[in-house]
Amino acid sequence: MLTLSGRVIKKQSAVVPTGPRLYSLSTNANLPLALRSKKTFLIKEPVAVPKGFGHYFHLEGVEVTSVDPENTTLLGKEFSYFGNDDVVSLSADGRIRSIYRADSNHNSILLTEQCNNYCLMCSQPPKRGDDSWLLREAFEAIRLIPRETKVLGFTGGEPTIFGQEFINLVQHTKNWLPHTSLHILSNGRSFADENFAYEYAKVQHPDVMVGIPVYSADPTIHDYVVQAEGAYDETIRGILNLKRFGQKVEIRVVLHKQTYKGLPELANFIARNLLFVDQVALMGLEHTGFTRANIDALWIDPIEYKEQLSEAVRILSNYSIHTAVYNHPLCLVNPDVYPAYVKSISDWKNEYANECGPCTKKNDCGGFFSSGIQNGYSQSIKPFL
Ligand code: SF4
Repeated sequence: MLTLSGRVIKKQSAVVPTGPRLYSLSTNANLPLALRSKKTFLIKEPVAVPKGFGHYFHLEGVEVTSVDPENTTLLGKEFSYFGNDDVVSLSADGRIRSIYRADSNHNSILLTEQCNNYCLMCSQPPKRGDDSWLLREAFEAIRLIPRETKVLGFTGGEPTIFGQEFINLVQHTKNWLPHTSLHILSNGRSFADENFAYEYAKVQHPDVMVGIPVYSADPTIHDYVVQAEGAYDETIRGILNLKRFGQKVEIRVVLHKQTYKGLPELANFIARNLLFVDQVALMGLEHTGFTRANIDALWIDPIEYKEQLSEAVRILSNYSIHTAVYNHPLCLVNPDVYPAYVKSISDWKNEYANECGPCTKKNDCGGFFSSGIQNGYSQSIKPFL
């Protein structure tokens, strides 16, 4: 598992602003002089340190001469994965976070930790308080991310909580990264406001999709899972408004003890009432955030709901709804799920179990969340031989 955030060993001795600042990295010692001042040179192998870069990151243990201590930050080996065109955030107190990794297709920018839901299995437990600096940082990050980036995510908390500023960010992203596919994770409730949905649609981003969780066909179960009364009605109205204005919507269902029994019924509900959504994602549970605290109420071995999963995939596919099964080990689903199966767990938190060693289908299998494997995942893992 990659270390996405931590502390540097020694930050530059020159004065830095109190808030976090973004750095766009380069490993190109031959970068034209005119382009160097806006980039940070990453010293990850012995080189003659090139002059003229705005700042320098020096990886611990790499021998170099002539570094300028006034303008150099020393990083621990856990950040040796940093690479060319990556974007990182560094605070004056030495906290460092990876914001964007150029060699990954799993980049998501956290826009806020605030949320108006309080889901039992939230992987990013909501916090109160003004964190609009994250949104401002996102505006800056978009300017630094390479134009050829294929896909980018916005996540939270609830990104739409910033209202018009969120829509401005979508517009800004369209302007700076016009060829990048954008995926936004939202609980959908803000889009119940027709004006908000309309303003979002007015951006006319060429390739954006909102991923919205619906956990049950029964409003009381959905509201219980998200711990917010009335959330179901707003979420469904949000989906309807987005589709009315021609926007792409993915419905996301996290499978656990509270949702698996009603999965076939939910698939039927979607097929009959929300046939026009662009995709349905059926997702395994991640053992992080609130899931750890609520593990007894949530955890079920995926082998125990594989029949419900198969039935839901069959119902949705029969109605020609594009269906994707995410975050499941391949040996814990029935073969009829394979056409919908996606190897999906983000590269930085993806691992395989010891049992996976001899498996002939490891390359096709999504494996496990690192957090899940540490907690003992399933007794039913069975390598394909
Ligand atoms: S044994 Fe491991 S690699 Fe093979 S399908 Fe199961 S989880 Fe995937």
